[in-house]
Amino acid sequence: MPFPFMVQDENVKLAKGLKRIRRFRPSSVPVCAMVDMRKWESKKIGVVIEVDYEKCKGYGDCVLACPSSVYELVDGKTTAPNIDDCIQCCACQDACPAKAIRHHSCQ
Ligand code: SF4
Ligand code: SF4
Repeated sequence: MPFPFMVQDENVKLAKGLKRIRRFRPSSVPVCAMVDMRKWESKKIGVVIEVDYEKCKGYGDCVLACPSSVYELVDGKTTAPNIDDCIQCCACQDACPAKAIRHHSCQ
């Protein structure tokens, strides 16, 4: 009776294949972290500021550190409505304790 044996063979092959796949699976599967990046762009002065809203805790250090009053807190998160006034001093990025700010001129 070759048919049941064939099925069994296929099952064995499948099981072996699965074992092999499991062997190459990384031990810790990276969990996709939530990212909520907000972006402000000044076409006038070519400045780009990104803020990770998952990290931003609304401490306001960036608001205080910015000499050009670029930032404003809105509902506990920072915003950069006055980005055109940025003088690219990088104080905001350095001041953020949560490392939430990415200023493209300050990499
Ligand atoms: S300093 Fe950082 S955490 Fe605080 S409001 Fe600004 S971006 Fe958010
Ligand atoms: S780089 Fe300086 S001027 Fe520009 S937003 Fe940051 S702190 Fe303000």
